[in-house]
Amino acid sequence: MGEKVGQLIDYIPQLALADPDAFGLALISMDGHRYSAGEADAPFTMQSVSKPFVYALALSVLGLDEVCRWVNAEPSGEAFNAISLERATGRPANAMVNAGAIVTTALIPDTADAPRFDRILDCLSRFAGRQLDVDEAVYASEVATGDRNRALAYLIRSTGLLPVDPVASVETYFRQCAVRVTALDLAAMAATLAHGGVNPLTGEAVVEKAVAAQVLAVMATCGMYDVSGDWLLRVGLPAKSGVSGGLIAAGPARFGLATYSPPLDPTGTSVRGRRALGALSERLGLHLMHNPALAGSTVTLVTTADDLPSAPTGEQERALREQVSVVAAQGALDFTAAERVLYALDESRTQETASVVLDLRQVTGVDTVALAMLRSGLERLAEGGRRTAVVDPAGHLAAVSAGEGPTAPQRFTSRDEAVERVAHDLEP
Ligand code: GLU
Repeated sequence: MGEKVGQLIDYIPQLALADPDAFGLALISMDGHRYSAGEADAPFTMQSVSKPFVYALALSVLGLDEVCRWVNAEPSGEAFNAISLERATGRPANAMVNAGAIVTTALIPDTADAPRFDRILDCLSRFAGRQLDVDEAVYASEVATGDRNRALAYLIRSTGLLPVDPVASVETYFRQCAVRVTALDLAAMAATLAHGGVNPLTGEAVVEKAVAAQVLAVMATCGMYDVSGDWLLRVGLPAKSGVSGGLIAAGPARFGLATYSPPLDPTGTSVRGRRALGALSERLGLHLMHNPALAGSTVTLVTTADDLPSAPTGEQERALREQVSVVAAQGALDFTAAERVLYALDESRTQETASVVLDLRQVTGVDTVALAMLRSGLERLAEGGRRTAVVDPAGHLAAVSAGEGPTAPQRFTSRDEAVERVAHDLEP
């Protein structure tokens, strides 16, 4: 990455003063572990990297359907400053190109006690986990030269179909572009999106999970302007570039990554940032479509209770325990993991009516989909004549066992106790 390629942008003159050799890289994990290299603390302005976060704010305030009425979510396949507007309506193609970002900014409510820009700066700061500020020199520079963006705003307004005033918002848009960050800040912001909207450094829920997912989806399809398809193909991560040389990428439920290096390629993307993230994705296997989690780690035990180390030796008790199957699971249960658990429960029976103990002591979480699947799976087993019990001291399935009638599994805190009870119930 040592060779000098790329150009500093000059249409915002202040940005042309940046150090072309500066390079910073930062990664923040879902546990809030921070890793950085080079000038990860060097300040620069967000520029278009602000767009996904202001989009997140608009989605939080208005909801997806309302925002989509005004800004579409289709890749434009065009440059960042193109006239990417629907012919009949003037609706911008997406919120990652300038036209869409200007409308997105216009959608943020503006009141005397909470001016639009204050709301935006507050939201960006929460994403970063610290109070951010504006580089006034860069702001003034874009105000002085930003006629193309003003022209876009006038064009949008000329269609007369959008119930917001993009012209009035262009200066706010320039200001959001001039918010000062470091690569570490951007990594925290990307990590917050990757972490379901919760900032992994501060623990604050900045936006809802659904909003974080919506923003990542639009970043994946539109974040890299006219190279978005190639980027998703090769690097495989939702990303957003900015003309000051910042670049972010998010690994959903995994990490937030950011680079800073000012020289840009003709698409307005940091040359070194693009190479660095591309190389990292390849070396570390970060591509989203790359062989997802390997099977086999959810279910840790499938056996019958007579085979447990704690099983008593008496013949009669052993015979009863042979009819009790035991399945243990671990980790976070989602759709994929729940399918494995249900399959193991089905496979575990030694005879049609064998009882079953589901041991969830090592389970760290159950999402709503897995909860519904386990609930109906256990009900199905009970309806088929099998006694069911769960070992669930943390109460992950509490919603299943609470007042659910005769098919609800009994809940225990210890496996021995559960096996004992279920085996006892089988006594003739
Ligand atoms: N402030 C810049 C503009 O609107 C942002 C463009 C970008 O970063 O891609 O022209």
